[in-house]
Amino acid sequence: MEFYRAEPTAVTSWRMAVLMGANSRTYKFALGEALLEFAEQGRDAVSLRELAIPYALRLAERAERYPQGPLASVGGASDFLAQLKASGPESLEAGAPTDRLTRAAVESMPGMVMQKFHNLRGVGAVAHRFYDLTGKGAARQVVLRPELKTVAVHAAALRAELHARWSVVETCFDATLGRELISAGVVLSADGQQLLAPIRRVAVAGARAALIGFQHGRCFYCRIPVGDTLRSVHVDHVYPFSLMKTGAWAGPDLNGVWNLVVACAGCNLTKSARLPTPAEVTRLLHRNDAIAASPHPLRRALELSMSDTAGAPATTSDARAAFVRQVDTVATDRGLQ
Ligand SMILES: [Zn+2]
Repeated sequence: MEFYRAEPTAVTSWRMAVLMGANSRTYKFALGEALLEFAEQGRDAVSLRELAIPYALRLAERAERYPQGPLASVGGASDFLAQLKASGPESLEAGAPTDRLTRAAVESMPGMVMQKFHNLRGVGAVAHRFYDLTGKGAARQVVLRPELKTVAVHAAALRAELHARWSVVETCFDATLGRELISAGVVLSADGQQLLAPIRRVAVAGARAALIGFQHGRCFYCRIPVGDTLRSVHVDHVYPFSLMKTGAWAGPDLNGVWNLVVACAGCNLTKSARLPTPAEVTRLLHRNDAIAASPHPLRRALELSMSDTAGAPATTSDARAAFVRQVDTVATDRGLQ
C-alpha cells in the first residue's frame, strides 16, 4: 500500500492499525491508549491484568457518552460489555475499574481486541507487531516489543490522533448523528478547527488531529514533521477556498475533506491563494487514498465530497483522480481570467 511504502516505519504501521483498522468497535483505541501509557513508562512487559486496568477505564469513560450496541459472542466479549454497563459508573467514581470489570476485561481481551489490533480490513496485518501475549491463565504476560517503544517516543502526537479517530468512529455509532454523518459526511467549521456533523453542526473531532496521521504527521507542503503539538499548524485548502468566492465558480465544493490538509504556519502563510503544483496534486491523491482506507465516516465524507456530476460517490482511486483533474481544469481556467 502506498501509505506504507511512503514511510515504511513502525510509526506508519501504528497509524495504519489505529486509523485504518476495521474499527467496527472502538476497543482497539482503548488498547492503543493503554499500550502507549505503559510504553512511555519504559516497561518491557506488563501482566494482562495491569493492561486491563487503563483499557477498561478508558472504555468506561467513553461508554458514558456513546453506549455501544450488543456484541457478537466472542469469548467473553458480551460479558465484558455487560460489566462495562453494570460497573462502569462505579469504576469511574473510584478512578479504577471494579474487580468484576477488570476480570471481564482480562477474560475478553486475548480473544477479542488483542488478536485483532494488528489486523487491517481484509488485507492481513500491519508490518510491525507491538506486543506479544505469552503464558497461560493468571500468568499471562504482555511483552511490549521494541517497536512499541519506537512509537511511544511520539506518544503525545499519536494519542491526539487516536482520540480524534476514536471520536470520529464513535460519532458514527451514535444513533442519530451517525446516520447524518454516513449520509452527508463531515464538514469543516468556519474557523477551520473542527470537523462537524453537517446538519446539527455538532463538533465531531479537531480537524488537525483527525487529518494529520494520514499525512504521516508532516506539513503537507514542506514535509517537515509538525511535532507533538498541533497548536502551530493550520488546516489549509489545497485548491484555495478563495476560488469559490471570486465570482461564478463552476467546480465542486472546495470546502470538503478531499481538499483539506494540515500545513505548518510558514507554508500556510506563503502559499496563500496559489494553485497546487503537480507534485502536491499527486500527494493529495495519495493522502486521499489513505483516508479512503479508513472505514467509517471520514472515508464516506471523502467519497461523497468527490461525487461526480451524476452524484455517484468517488469510491475508487481512479474516480478520485478524475475528480481532482476536473477541479484542476476549472481552477486553472479561472486563474487565467
Ligand atoms: Zn510546511
